[in-house]
Amino acid sequence: MRAIYGNQQAQARLERAALGDAVSHAWLLTGPANIGKTTLALEFARLLECTGRDPASAEPCGECVSCRKLAHGAHPDVIVIEPKKDERTLKVELVREMIHLASLAPSESRWRIFIIPDIERMVLAGANALLKTLEEPAPGVMLLLTSSEPETPLPTILSRCQVVPMLPLTPEEITYALTGRWQIPEMDARRLAALANGRLGWAVRAAENPDLREQRIRELEEIASLASASRDERLRRAGALGTDVESARRVLELWTLWWRDVVLAAGGASHLALSGDLRACAERLGARLGLERAQAFMRSLLAAQLALEANALDLPRLPVKP
Ligand SMILES: [Zn+2]
Repeated sequence: MRAIYGNQQAQARLERAALGDAVSHAWLLTGPANIGKTTLALEFARLLECTGRDPASAEPCGECVSCRKLAHGAHPDVIVIEPKKDERTLKVELVREMIHLASLAPSESRWRIFIIPDIERMVLAGANALLKTLEEPAPGVMLLLTSSEPETPLPTILSRCQVVPMLPLTPEEITYALTGRWQIPEMDARRLAALANGRLGWAVRAAENPDLREQRIRELEEIASLASASRDERLRRAGALGTDVESARRVLELWTLWWRDVVLAAGGASHLALSGDLRACAERLGARLGLERAQAFMRSLLAAQLALEANALDLPRLPVKP
């Protein structure tokens, strides 16, 4: 699946499944937001439905009727289930509608594939309604679910799916994708990749919308400015993780992005870090702290992230002082 960047293991696993005889009927792709989970699900669907490829090839042909319909988002047997416009949750009525469609045979292809991105948006009644379909799908029906909140999917859903974990992309993978597919000049692509924190989806949006990039730089500058703030000020600003899991996750991610650069700078590799004033600031802080303390602080941030994912209801506090 050449259209997919990063996450080689996840790709390879789906390719093997598509080329084998006994492909599972229910999959759950997990990993942080904006790393390409839905894109990979769509590409897997394209591979399964393609009628023009060599049966031994893991590359959709791009030319058959099925590939052309999917390119226009108009394949009758590949259905993406999203909440209605202006709604944040996937209502139970939508899930019931989907379950009804899943009881019918594919209209023109080998598979009828339902893609449900971010199943954490599904209300509990919907998730329960889905269980039977996951347990005994009609012949030819496949469900591709994604989730960016590892603690959320019901164990009953998890146990019925093949779980495919996905990871954030490396800056190199993001640069390669931006320069190749999106034709972004290499210098700009590298800058975006450094800010993207492994999220290709974010980098693509930020390439189209410079405000996003500016906003992230401002947020990182604010974090960087904490290095020279008084202890009281640090306690006040760093202690605030927000009041919900989503904002806590976001704050921790921004901190990790910034401290990654401080560690790089402390280890003499600041050429891999962000550019401009931020790099200069990371170099100063890295030189002041030294590699060992910078790494120790980074470890405490990662521990806070793990604590957040393990027990989302009990928000951890940010470590204040390196
Ligand atoms: Zn094709």
